[in-house]
Amino acid sequence: MTLKSINPYSQELIAEYQVLTNTELNKKLEVSETAFKNWRKTSFQQRGEKMQKLASILRDKKEQLGLLITNEMGKILSESIAEVEKSASNCDYYAEHAEQMLKDQYYDTPFKSMSVYDPMGAVFAVMPWNYPFWQVLRYAAPAIMAGNVTLLKHASNVTGCAKAIESAFLEAGFPEGVFQQLSVEVSQVESIIESNIVSGITLTGSEGAGSSVAALAGKHIKKTVMELGGSDAFIVLNDANIEKAAEVAAHSRMLNAGQACICAKRFIVTEKIAEEFVSHFSKNIQAIKQGNPIHNGIQMGPLARLDLVDTLSEQLDKTLKQGAKLILGGEHEGCNFQPTLIDFVSVDSVAFQEETFGPLATVIRAKDENDAIAIANNHRYGLASALWTEDREKAYHLARRIEAGNVFVNSLVRSDSRVPFGGVKKSGYGRELGDVGIKEFMNMKSLVIE
Ligand code: NAP
Repeated sequence: MTLKSINPYSQELIAEYQVLTNTELNKKLEVSETAFKNWRKTSFQQRGEKMQKLASILRDKKEQLGLLITNEMGKILSESIAEVEKSASNCDYYAEHAEQMLKDQYYDTPFKSMSVYDPMGAVFAVMPWNYPFWQVLRYAAPAIMAGNVTLLKHASNVTGCAKAIESAFLEAGFPEGVFQQLSVEVSQVESIIESNIVSGITLTGSEGAGSSVAALAGKHIKKTVMELGGSDAFIVLNDANIEKAAEVAAHSRMLNAGQACICAKRFIVTEKIAEEFVSHFSKNIQAIKQGNPIHNGIQMGPLARLDLVDTLSEQLDKTLKQGAKLILGGEHEGCNFQPTLIDFVSVDSVAFQEETFGPLATVIRAKDENDAIAIANNHRYGLASALWTEDREKAYHLARRIEAGNVFVNSLVRSDSRVPFGGVKKSGYGRELGDVGIKEFMNMKSLVIE
């Protein structure tokens, strides 16, 4: 069996990678176990020096690694390079702050009592292709700085990226086994989860994959963090800066060709300003230049795989049959899907109910702000939301009513190393990033000394 990397723009086969046999996989699990015994004893300073070296290797090779990302999953080259840079910054961030984040925490008792943070073993990660570097370094930098080791099962279409990340760790001086990439199939995932060295599992991906991996982890009593799908609401109220909101809306929906968990997907707009918003929104979307993702000036590349085009196209067709109005786009060829805008989308339509993973923007008209919040919350997902109003006091109160793990007022939803990130409802549980993220796979041990 092999894992194939196919360039989504040209449809050329880039490479094929052999899947590990079970014997090879067991050997890697043993290497991980041995590596953990030594790695957990290293100091924060030793780990931090290697982590900073890794950051500088990523920066030095950002053009080459960016091209690899673009070739394997199709995002435009400038976004790929920016992704490598952001991943490097995350390494620096945890190199600098991990020790402080994991310092002993004392309690006010008549005796000495405290919490100490012990690493637990290997974090097994199941990762998606849409941000093939960022998603990996987002969990791996804190896990490794905390003294854990890690095993990565990346999405099968970005094995080249997975191997490049492993090589960068080795080049930075991390001992063999601290970061290992596993070319495995979904059917081999349970044997990894049940291995004694695996102490926790982090999955970023779809709701289906999350549900299945969380069930296996439950069976083997292993902790999980689930970063799953989303259908983020972008709420625009009467008093918003409409022009600015429409500009950010187009960016938020269309970046990475619409293939981000935190791309805004449902544009919930109050009736009074809906016409004006849609007019600006459609101009911004129309201006997007689509084409070969390695060419300068191109703002949107292809979707990552042909099956993703089929799914999106079906969701669009069904939603139009359910009464939505096509404003722009809708055509596709190969993996290239035109940036598309539909209006008058109803809450029971397919594009509202399901996650749409591609450049399809849906406008839903709300009666007023209470109706807008109710529509936003009327969903199985709760990853992030954007809220547009010039009244910051009102924004605070409305934001508290939104059922999502992240709410951004008057700005683009984005992740930041310093700020915890994660979802509620079917978007998952647990948090990555910030000081909370690094504690997810630690033994927070209570220590009492009389
Ligand atoms: P996906 O199909 O769920 O794949 C993600 C990873 O899970 C891949 O490594 C995949 O392996 C693996 N996988 C799939 N089914 C599995 C199963 N039954 N058991 C174990 N592993 C399984 O998702 P995707 O299409 O790559 O990514 C898009 C999804 O990820 C969207 O729903 C998006 O919203 C979500 N996402 C969430 C976040 C977040 O932070 N919340 C960030 C990015 C993406 P194969 O490639 O071998 O199938």
